[in-house]
Amino acid sequence: MKLAVIEGDGIGREVIPAAVKVLDAFGLEFEKVPLELGYARWERTGTAMSSGDLETLKECNAVLFGAITTVPDPNYKSVLLTIRKELDLYANIRPVKPLPGITGITGKSDFDFIIVRENTEGLYSGIEEIGSDLSWTKRVITRKGSERIAEYACKLAKKRKNKLTIVHKSNVLKSDKLFLDVCRQTAADNRIEYEDMLVDSMAYSLMMYPERYDVVVTTNLFGDILSDMCAALVGSLGLVPSANIGDKYAFFEPVHGSAPDIAGKDIANPLAAILCVKMLLEWMGEPRSQIIDEAIANVLQKKIITPDLGGKASTMEVGNAVAEYVVKNL
Ligand code: ATP
Repeated sequence: MKLAVIEGDGIGREVIPAAVKVLDAFGLEFEKVPLELGYARWERTGTAMSSGDLETLKECNAVLFGAITTVPDPNYKSVLLTIRKELDLYANIRPVKPLPGITGITGKSDFDFIIVRENTEGLYSGIEEIGSDLSWTKRVITRKGSERIAEYACKLAKKRKNKLTIVHKSNVLKSDKLFLDVCRQTAADNRIEYEDMLVDSMAYSLMMYPERYDVVVTTNLFGDILSDMCAALVGSLGLVPSANIGDKYAFFEPVHGSAPDIAGKDIANPLAAILCVKMLLEWMGEPRSQIIDEAIANVLQKKIITPDLGGKASTMEVGNAVAEYVVKNL
């Protein structure tokens, strides 16, 4: 197993070493390939990522990624979007589940759902023209793109409650009719119980009744917005992991960005990055990945927590505490 490790910029350089500590605690055979990508690399060399880096990534099975600060160059092409496209990472998976004893803005803790977002097309197609009086972006929905994300969501639903919510805006965006039809058909073919929701109603409903949902499938931009919003249900951006999955490769990244405001202070919460390690281990089929949930519950109970959760622990102190629990209880 070859794992590319990209710390990136800002707090990525703090949370990824803490997450790697937890990964190492499992004692698995990994060949780790460190790669420097992002803003700091661009400042140093004029390139955030080269074609050689992409080739190196393609030689790896999976990627553990921190965060990248957007490069202030009008010609800059997003490193993340490029990697998602080049590795065909079509499914973006964001589990939204509260951690023990921590509640978000709603005070609720009785929910556990997963947002499955189409990751390669929609409004992030990259097909756009920018002018001084007119700018446009093409929103691309294909049958193939919709089918594979719908299949992925149904597979996940089968392992959980056999329930799927399809989120769209087909009353206004006619392109969403194809997405909706394909998702309905795929759910019916897989005998999954399904419903559909307009994205605006869904935003409200997720905040009011998050416990109603299990697997939610949607298009690229809607999924991006809804899943960041749902971080507020969980309590901190520092707690939400994500995975970008394709047929050949997988890429794991915390939902938060590089947070320049707290970078270098050793106070970033590493739990989102550590939960990315759990998702990586699950993707590999490692049955002991669940111990990370236990380890996190244990450090939360002992109040080994970073300032965003009201504690005083440093990023690495949290990482070390989780890793120690894993080593002792594997
Ligand atoms: P970027 O430009 O890379 O997206 P950003 O600061 O705009 O960075 P985020 O990194 O997502 O966006 O952070 C938003 C805010 O949330 C930050 O200002 C930070 O205070 C807080 N935050 C994000 N991640 C964490 C974390 N892991 N631990 C603690 N606080 C965090």
